[in-house]
Amino acid sequence: MAEETIFSKIIRKEIPADVLYQDDLVTAFRDINPRAPSHILIIPNKLIPTVNQIEADDEVMMGRLFTVARKLAEKEGVAENGYRLIVNCNPHGGQEVYHVHMHLLGGRPLGPMLV
Ligand code: AMP
Repeated sequence: MAEETIFSKIIRKEIPADVLYQDDLVTAFRDINPRAPSHILIIPNKLIPTVNQIEADDEVMMGRLFTVARKLAEKEGVAENGYRLIVNCNPHGGQEVYHVHMHLLGGRPLGPMLV
């Protein structure tokens, strides 16, 4: 059983967060340390620590992250100019919170993808 992170508490509304969207499968909220004018995290409600633990049964839920990202990008007004979706995995990927999450970043030119 994977260990819960602060994101589980956000899903259950046990700690404050700027939640923009929630349904039976996913939750989206603003990143506490925004790296762009729009910086939103979209996460599955089910605790999956990293991309390495995603199973075939999770495909609908993981696909929902993209449709919610698309809708939020439109709502934020960043869809036309563009935005970036990022999922970090494990230490070399720069993952800090071990609950799978998709970053939606937009609202300024992000430049080329540099590692
Ligand atoms: P990652 O490095 O991909 O694991 O990203 C984790 C992200 O979670 C970082 O951008 C943090 O700023 C963000 N974060 C951590 N704690 C919170 C929180 N309580 N509310 C919103 N965002 C958070």
